[in-house]
Amino acid sequence: MKHVIVVGGGASGMAAAIAAGRAGHKVTLLEKNEKLGKKIYITGKGRCNFTNGAPIEDFFSMVMSNRKFLYSAFYTLTNQDVMDFMESHGTPWKEERGQRIFPVSDRASDVTQALKRALDEYRVEVRLHTEVRGLLMEEDRVCGVKTENREIRADAVILCTGGLSYPTTGSTGDGHHFAKQLGLKVTDLRPALVPFNCKEAYIPKMQGLSLKNVTLSLYTQEKKKPVYSDFGEMMFTHFGITGPLVLSASSQVGKYLASGSLMGIIDLKPALDHEKLDHKLLRIIEEAPNKQFSNFYDKLLPKAMIPVMLELTAIPSDLKLNSITKDMREKILSCLKAFPLTVTGTRGFKEAIVTQGGISVKEIDPSTMAVKRIPGLYAAGELLDLDALTGGFNLQIAFSTGDLAGRSIE
Ligand SMILES: Cc1cc2nc3c(=O)[nH]c(=O)nc-3n(C[C@H](O)[C@H](O)[C@H](O)COP(=O)(O)OP(=O)(O)OC[C@H]3O[C@@H](n4cnc5c(N)ncnc54)[C@H](O)[C@@H]3O)c2cc1C
Repeated sequence: MKHVIVVGGGASGMAAAIAAGRAGHKVTLLEKNEKLGKKIYITGKGRCNFTNGAPIEDFFSMVMSNRKFLYSAFYTLTNQDVMDFMESHGTPWKEERGQRIFPVSDRASDVTQALKRALDEYRVEVRLHTEVRGLLMEEDRVCGVKTENREIRADAVILCTGGLSYPTTGSTGDGHHFAKQLGLKVTDLRPALVPFNCKEAYIPKMQGLSLKNVTLSLYTQEKKKPVYSDFGEMMFTHFGITGPLVLSASSQVGKYLASGSLMGIIDLKPALDHEKLDHKLLRIIEEAPNKQFSNFYDKLLPKAMIPVMLELTAIPSDLKLNSITKDMREKILSCLKAFPLTVTGTRGFKEAIVTQGGISVKEIDPSTMAVKRIPGLYAAGELLDLDALTGGFNLQIAFSTGDLAGRSIE
């Protein structure tokens, strides 16, 4: 039996402590907050989408950084294992749109309760209000941690301090700091699954408007191929854009945004090519030739968008539809097929669901989560350079990597 210290009582830390306890070790879980799982409470809008019901082999394509690294972790603790665990610890679950898994109660706190039950079951000692300030080293191996007022010795330490997103939940980058002090590589840290700020003054005029079935494409200033393009749903806000398409985009374009703004275009009518849409415009004109241009978009666009489109097409609003020229139609077509916006940056870590970047996976043994160069040290969860799209995949990463670290202590 070894004494194991787990630093951080989030999803990955609790999973690590449970697995180490189950393996028969004496485990101490240190959490700086007043309670465990502070971030879990706000996940899935307070309902906690704790994993996904898709086959585990489909999870890899949802992982944005270092998917291959997760092979052992995902197959050692699968999504089905997490669902079975929740069920057997008093938190039955249900599947929703996109195979997202939630507690039947719709209460994120029930996920934390299930984890707490298992911590009790394996007699894990939980110390709250305990901030780890550094690691104790003996020769080249980790032999414990330093807290504000004492040193705690241990045979192994598992770092589960999370990333930088929503720092009010306790994830303030302490683990990155410890890793750097030990000479470990920490890759660039960027907010991901995060809304975008936009430059144009007309964007906030549409705040609250949600667009479904549109294509969003983002380009660098060189504007060759888009660096992101996908079809789905997005929303305008008082600062820019958000919604599923935007959050996914943010996980894929962070490195481009780091070196400047991105040009965005929204195809508002992706089902119609240029020619078919032009026919549609001609039909609208033929049906009501004496109508004014101010009414032109009524059947084409949501109400909140019409004043902005009129502004962008810059055609006099009292012009009769039968006076619209081919050039004017081209202008309308280009606004509908390529509604322009400029993404100036993200909303930052404060509003990011996940952190992209972290301790380089090259430093970690993927079959144990051990830090290769430092005996006695393990790391798991969002602290590592791992992140995925929305749908329950980030919590599954935390559970699987935490569990693998805990069960690998020898
Ligand atoms: C708003 C929001 C919604 C989300 N919704 C979902 C969702 O529905 N589904 C999903 O899969 N993912 C979701 N995520 C992402 C997911 O919550 C995280 O990826 C996951 O919780 C990371 O777990 P972790 O244990 O690695 O880190 P964290 O949850 O950040 O836990 C780290 C813990 O370590 C503690 N700590 C840090 N430093 C120290 C220290 N020095 N000493 C002691 N303790 C320390 C912190 O206080 C914290 O409790 C969401 C994230 C956010 C912000």
